[in-house]
Amino acid sequence: MTSSASLSQLFWTRGDDSPVTHVERIPPRSGVPVAWPPWVSPMFVEACRDQRIISPWSHQATAGTLAHEGTDVVLATGTASGKSLGYQMPVLTRLVTDPRATALYLAPTKALAADQLRAVVGFGLPEVRAATYDGDTAREEREWIRHHSRFVLTNPDMVHHGILPGHERWAVFLRRLAYVVIDECHAYRGVFGSHVSHVLRRLRRSAARYGGKPTFVLASATSGDPADAASRLIGRPVTAVTEDGSPRGGVTFALWEPPLLPADPGLAAVPAPRAAPSSTDSGTPSVPALDPEVELPQVRRSALRETADLLTNAVVAGTRTLAFVRSRRGAEVVAAVTRRQLDEAVPGLGDRVAAYRAGYLKEDRRAIERALLSGELLGLASTNALELGVDLVGLDAVLICGYPGTRASLWQQAGRAGRAGGEALAVLIARDDPLDTYLVHHPSALFGHPVEVTVLDPANPYVLGPQLCCAASEGPLTEADIELFGGEPARAAVHGLTASGALRRRPSGWYWTHAGRPDVDLRGTGGAPVAVVEESTGRLLGTIDPESSHAMLHTGAVYLHQGVTYVVDDLDLADAVALVHQEEPDWSTHARDVTDLSVVNVRSSVDAGPVGLFLGEVDVTNQVVSYQRRRLGSGEIIDTRPLDLPVRELRTVAVWFTVSPNALATAGLEPADFPGALHAAEHAAIGLLPLMATCDRWDIGGLSTANHDDTEAPTVFVYDGHPGGAGFAERAYATAAEWLSATRAAIAACACDSGCPSCVQSPKCGNGNNPLHKPGAIAVLDAVRAALAAARPPAHSIGM
Ligand SMILES: [Zn+2]
Ligand SMILES: [Zn+2]
Repeated sequence: MTSSASLSQLFWTRGDDSPVTHVERIPPRSGVPVAWPPWVSPMFVEACRDQRIISPWSHQATAGTLAHEGTDVVLATGTASGKSLGYQMPVLTRLVTDPRATALYLAPTKALAADQLRAVVGFGLPEVRAATYDGDTAREEREWIRHHSRFVLTNPDMVHHGILPGHERWAVFLRRLAYVVIDECHAYRGVFGSHVSHVLRRLRRSAARYGGKPTFVLASATSGDPADAASRLIGRPVTAVTEDGSPRGGVTFALWEPPLLPADPGLAAVPAPRAAPSSTDSGTPSVPALDPEVELPQVRRSALRETADLLTNAVVAGTRTLAFVRSRRGAEVVAAVTRRQLDEAVPGLGDRVAAYRAGYLKEDRRAIERALLSGELLGLASTNALELGVDLVGLDAVLICGYPGTRASLWQQAGRAGRAGGEALAVLIARDDPLDTYLVHHPSALFGHPVEVTVLDPANPYVLGPQLCCAASEGPLTEADIELFGGEPARAAVHGLTASGALRRRPSGWYWTHAGRPDVDLRGTGGAPVAVVEESTGRLLGTIDPESSHAMLHTGAVYLHQGVTYVVDDLDLADAVALVHQEEPDWSTHARDVTDLSVVNVRSSVDAGPVGLFLGEVDVTNQVVSYQRRRLGSGEIIDTRPLDLPVRELRTVAVWFTVSPNALATAGLEPADFPGALHAAEHAAIGLLPLMATCDRWDIGGLSTANHDDTEAPTVFVYDGHPGGAGFAERAYATAAEWLSATRAAIAACACDSGCPSCVQSPKCGNGNNPLHKPGAIAVLDAVRAALAAARPPAHSIGM
């Protein structure tokens, strides 16, 4: 399959009712090869020749030369552009020419570190003695690595838990540390990114203590302002190389909107429950617990179904195709439906399709990866686990079921398609979601728009405090360290920790007062992942992060694994275990929660007359209180069952706007419609925020009310779902005009009558999407935008 015309014919024909809303042709690009820079070791050049790398591409040579000269550099180019060579060139040259030098390589996943080890070993430079060092490394081996390895490949968790606390044992390695390589550095965003930024500051401090002054070489997917993001990450200025000199095959990129289903008269007959005074949407971080395609009453044909159909066609035609699905459950549904459809066509053909996600055990993942590379598998439905997992490129087609949340991820996923010199296809299939709707109707927001900024906030006090304790336990903190860890916010944190007794001030610095080391989890919110165990066999099916566990693994929840359905018998939060049994009920489960919010302080605000825009700290309490069982397919509610789960408390950062009742009345709204209008605006605003920052709607929560105690006005709050905030609310505040305009456009563009999941409904609404008033939301947003446009824009110094 080499021609894009024949590939796209496989998937669609153009016509008036075609689901294809836009086709973008990304032309092939020829590469820009350059000569090896003169400083590169002849041994390395020789080793490259053996691997049929005759000369570097321009971006590799530029980044390598900067690193060689001691400049911290970030190489931010596309998938499969050969970023690895950009750091291998200076690092391996240094290791072969300076027999004492050492280097450290950090990857966000063990799988990627293992891949890199294979690549480095493949150069056949024995004196480098490269080794991976992670949780799986045996004790005896660790000792050998500390003493003999000159290129250690590991991850930030291992640096945090293993290397830095035992820095004395690493003294020689740290003294000779010439380079720190940070691969896939765009993965370090949000709370995790903020933690990693301090782990890297601790690493710099520990190396400096022994005389090591490493140069940092970072590799990133294309991202907005990579130099700024990398500088925040390592804590000092970084130079970006973004001009991609590698060749690329042409890609035909289609945007696909599933068709509306015929109107279901039954839905209109469902009586609307009484309007609640306020509506809340908890900010449960990370993975969506439930897939909207199978949870909410359907208005459009589900994106999962469309993806399964496209994947079925692709496999029948013998095309190697990868489908990216946002949720793990969605990936499993797509694989199961595709397998069934294929088996109906040709018995046994279904075996050539599998599902893949990060929670699978290592052996399962490896087997699937090998099968796809060998061609034994033709179709794979994956969560974005693959984004960071393996170097799997050269596919005929990539299906992206639902916008992956960032343009950076979109390009990374699409970049899996394309064989050298061949043509490939990428299709973005819109889900019922306001952001997806907006994008398939505004292709310019995807094509020819810079990718978003990677957001992290090293000043988050919930990250800074624990990290300063870690640093102090590795060696007393000095005045110079306060500068290293961020200046004023670090000073305030140190004073707070001293007052609480965690640190003690002595003439030589601030000391950690406890015997053991601080227990700090880089994922920020604490707690072990919850193990999902089949009760009858004791088999570990996988793990779920603790934040998602209340909504995903509550007693009675339906849980899918590799296309097999399980029902949760018991969630034991104390032991972090969910016991499940295999069962296939014909309903799905949908958690309901209640949220309360109070304003702690206002950091910044815009007074726009009848409208106010605010950024500040808030206290949020959230409790998963019940779950609904909904009939598969129709979404009909069978019943609602109570749950007894503890309240979770969150102090975080929020952005909010208030509108005076008079302004709402002037906009044509009846007071009875205020709650529905504000609630609908809140949902859509949460849905569109990922356009502005590298978050997804599951990182953020919201609350809307016709009268909030603290603001004494109709108010919409949007808050970070992470303790202390991860920078998302700041970003929303700084880009409020653009953000709320896109929100308004998304609602107005939706062809539905009274609101649907593509515009104002939310899959995670704690109030069951009631009340919602679609035209009212447009009126609210128009009133807010008009007042803000007439006032001073928010100060951009606040933003990231
Ligand atoms: Zn709609
Ligand atoms: Zn809601």
